[in-house]
Amino acid sequence: MIPVRNPRTGEVDHQIEPATSEQVAAEARRVRSAQPAWQALGPEGRAETLKRWAEAIEEQADALVSALSVDTGRLKIARVEVEGLPRTIRRWAGRAPQIIAGLNVRDRPSAFPGVSISTRHVPYPLFGAIAPWNFPVVLSTIDLIPALLAGCAALVKPSEVTPRFVGPLKETIAAVPELERVLAFVLGGPETGQALIANVDYVCFTGSVATGRKVAEAAARCFIPANLELGGKDPMIVLASADPVQAARTALRASVVASGQACQSIERVYVARPVAERFLKTLVDEAGKCRPNFPDIDHGEIGPFIFARQAEVVQAQIDDACAKGARILTGGTVERLGGGLYLRPTVITNVTSDMLVMREETFGPVIPVIEFDTVDEAIAQANAGEFGLSAAVIAGTAHEAEAVAARLDAGAVSINDGALTSMVGDAEKNAFKLSGIGPSRSGDQGLTRFFRTQALIRQNGQPLPLAAFAEGG
Ligand code: NAD
Repeated sequence: MIPVRNPRTGEVDHQIEPATSEQVAAEARRVRSAQPAWQALGPEGRAETLKRWAEAIEEQADALVSALSVDTGRLKIARVEVEGLPRTIRRWAGRAPQIIAGLNVRDRPSAFPGVSISTRHVPYPLFGAIAPWNFPVVLSTIDLIPALLAGCAALVKPSEVTPRFVGPLKETIAAVPELERVLAFVLGGPETGQALIANVDYVCFTGSVATGRKVAEAAARCFIPANLELGGKDPMIVLASADPVQAARTALRASVVASGQACQSIERVYVARPVAERFLKTLVDEAGKCRPNFPDIDHGEIGPFIFARQAEVVQAQIDDACAKGARILTGGTVERLGGGLYLRPTVITNVTSDMLVMREETFGPVIPVIEFDTVDEAIAQANAGEFGLSAAVIAGTAHEAEAVAARLDAGAVSINDGALTSMVGDAEKNAFKLSGIGPSRSGDQGLTRFFRTQALIRQNGQPLPLAAFAEGG
C-alpha cells in the first residue's frame, strides 16, 4: 500500500494499492485488443465518442472537484481543471477529423519513373502517460485526448501523490463503454510507471528531469518514442519601457498561481534599473496582500504545498540564498497551518547566480529579482542555466518585447504577459535544453505525433527484371 497525505491536514487519510507489473500488463492487453475497432471507428466516430465522455465528466463534475480539491488542497484551481476538461475534449474533437483528413496523400507521382506514392498515417496502437501531482487532472489528460482521437488505446498512470480524483474519473469513463474498452488508468509509483513503459508503444511523461532521464532510458531499451515535458526555471525580463506597476502584477500572478507549483511559473525576474524601484515596490506591496487559503479553502490566493518534501526543497533554497547574502523583502518562511505547509509569496533581492534559487527549479511562490543595465546582460542571464521551458518579456511595445524574445533560449515566450502556456493550448512549441524532448504537445502537432507514416509505393508499369542489375549489362 502507498500512503497518501492530505495537503491541508498533513495527515495520511488515504492509501492506494499500486498496480503490479502483471496487472499493468493485463490492462495493456485488454485495451490493446480493443484498439483496432477504435481505429476503425474513424476520426468522426472517435470524436463523437469523446464528446459523450465530455458530457459524462460534466455530470460528475462535483464529485471530481471534491476529490481533486482534497488531492491538491485548493478549490478554485480544482474547479478550473475539472471544468476545463470537457472544453479541451470538445476543442480537440472538433479539430481532429480535419487535421487527420489533411494528412493522408494519395497517388503522388514519384521521382522514380512509373511509380506513385500514397502516404497513410497509422496510430501507435498503445499510448501511455505518466503524470505528476501539480495539476493532476490536466496533466493526466493533456496528451491522452489527442492520442485517443488519433486512434490509440491508452494507459495512464497519474501521480501516487494525488490519486483521489481517479475514482470519479473512472466512473465517467465507465459511462462511455466504447471508451472504457480502450482506456485504462493504473495507480502506483515508480515501479508501476516502469511497467507502463514496458507495455506501451509511445510514452508521454510529465515530471522532473531526474525521473525523465529514467523514463527516457527505459523507453530507449524498448525502442519506443518518449515525449518528455520536464522542469523549468522560467525567466521574465522587464524592459525599461515597460509599465512597472503592470509588470509587477503580471510577475506576481505568473509566479505564485498554484503556489508556484507549475512548470511554467516565473522563477526569476530581470528588471531594467530605471523601472526597478517602482516594480519592486508594487511587487512587495501586492505580494504582502496574498493570504493562505486557510482555514477556509475558498478564501486566499496561496494553497498548501501538495507534496510535503517540496516545502523542504523550497525552504532550503531560500535559506541557501540568505546564507549567501540575499535579502528577503516579504515572505521567506514555510508556515504550518492546521497541518498544511504554506509559503506566502517570497520576494528576494541581492541574488547571485551561484544561489540554488537562481539555478534549480523552485516549484514554490518565490520571486528572485535582479536589476540589469543592458538588455544584452539581461538576455545572457536569462539564457544561463540548463532549463529552456518558457520565458516572458514585458516592454512598452510588443515589437520591442518580441525582438528580445527571439534571442531567448526557451520553447515559448509570453509577450507582455507571463506563463501564457498554462492557458493557451494551441501554440506549437518544443521544450528546449533539459526541459524536455519530443514534438509539441500543443497545436496540431499534439495530435500528429501519435501517427507513424506508412508509404504505399505503387508500381504502375513493369517491375524491373533482375537483368537490369546484371554486371556488364
Ligand atoms: P516526478 O518526476 O517525481 O514524478 C512524475 C511521475 O513519474 C509520477 O507519476 C511518478 O510516480 C512517476 N515516476 C517516478 N519515478 C519513476 C520511474 N523510475 N519510472 C517511471 N515513472 C516514475 O515529478 P513530480 O514531482 O510529480 O512533478 C513535478 C515536476 O513535474 C516538476 O519538475 C515540474 O516542473 C514538472 N512538470 C513539467 C511540466 C511540463 O509540461 N513541462 C508540467 C508540470 C510539471
